Amino acid sequence: MADQREDQHAPGATATIEDTDRSPRVANRAAFTKPAEISSYEIVTHYFKAASERLGLPDDVEAVLRSSYREVQVQVPVKRADGKIHVYSGYRVQHNGARGPYKGGVRYHPEVELDEVRALASLMTWKTAVVGVPYGGAKGGINCPVQEMEPSEVEAVTRDFIHKIDRVIGPMRDIPAPDVNTNAQVMAWMMDEYGKLHGHTPAIVTGKPIALGGSHGREAATGRGLVYAYREAAPHLGLPPDQTRVSIQGFGNVGSWAGRILQGLGCKIVAVQDQQGEIVNPDGIDTEALTKHLREGNHIEEFPGAEPVAVEEFLSTEVDVFIPAALGGMLHGDNAHLVNAKMIVEGANGPITPKADEIFTERGIWVIPDILANAGGVVVSYFEWVQNLQHFSWDEREVNEKLGTIMRRSFREVHHRSREDDVSMRIAAYQIGIERVVEAARTRGYL
Ligand code: GLU
Repeated sequence: MADQREDQHAPGATATIEDTDRSPRVANRAAFTKPAEISSYEIVTHYFKAASERLGLPDDVEAVLRSSYREVQVQVPVKRADGKIHVYSGYRVQHNGARGPYKGGVRYHPEVELDEVRALASLMTWKTAVVGVPYGGAKGGINCPVQEMEPSEVEAVTRDFIHKIDRVIGPMRDIPAPDVNTNAQVMAWMMDEYGKLHGHTPAIVTGKPIALGGSHGREAATGRGLVYAYREAAPHLGLPPDQTRVSIQGFGNVGSWAGRILQGLGCKIVAVQDQQGEIVNPDGIDTEALTKHLREGNHIEEFPGAEPVAVEEFLSTEVDVFIPAALGGMLHGDNAHLVNAKMIVEGANGPITPKADEIFTERGIWVIPDILANAGGVVVSYFEWVQNLQHFSWDEREVNEKLGTIMRRSFREVHHRSREDDVSMRIAAYQIGIERVVEAARTRGYL
């Protein structure tokens, strides 16, 4: 979310949705903003199985693709400002490396656990395959309460984590990147720590600051990729940008960039929710001003350009496009009926549970799935890695153009498959991803 998420958000601007509302609507917020009871692992496994069954994958091949190649768990102790040592758990899961080095972000969140990281690592395998970048899939995480930590504590945790996983990562082995609550600064610490052990190696992480070999356009890439996906999808629904109303759930890196770029195209952002509240303005919310308002530490409901509303009202605001860009499982069986949109473009990883997915299908809401829609981040990560390996730098125009080419091509491939096989965009995307991984694994002689 999605980003404080990388991608979906960076420290200081998290899009996790917590029950911390100050308003009298606390009880309602809790009921509608808590993620579903189903785990990310169950969500991803459900979709993977639906696609692999359609493909008729043999059981043994399915078993290989469902499990991780390697799962590392390390102890991450840090002496915090209270004088005590706090012990966190750090994870790096490498799901499948048939198509290239493992690739995926690292998230910092108190609720990070192995099962979730495992699910997110497999999503990266399918995502990199769907958009055709030469990587496998991985994910990492540390279960630290990053929002309560000093920057120096976050730095210590980051360095210790890299120190402990340095033998399983590498620029040709596994390349971390930002995700929920990690950002360019965290990547700089990771690169520096890895460099102490192995010599200066910019290609060890992507999403770095520009000054350290980061790519132009990387910070906005996930949001920009969502916009490319919307632009491909919109004509099929007869939706020109100047008649498109958008609702954004989660206003971290992904949500805020998607909002700003859509607004630049002429779309109206009419509803926004972040971890603290929700606002609506039928005439359009100035997302540039909102980003600044939130960056200065203000509460979303104090934003002068919109009205605070209850969660149900936010979810049910009539829009053309709804963008879930917070955490996984945010749209589920208990709130999916409220969403009043023609199209959902998944900014977060796994934001829709299978039950909600079913409800959206029944209601004719077109869902553009995470492994396609939010792939812009990893695509520009790939560009960053290529630039690092070539000791070369592209300008932002070139990066955005190349991103657009990949997103358009991938969208068309998935859309074509979805029509041909009469399946959802999600199942079509999984089918394409799985086929590409199977082909690479077979040719290598793994299967
Ligand atoms: N964390 C992002 C994602 O979920 C980007 C990963 C990357 O750039 O490697 O896609």
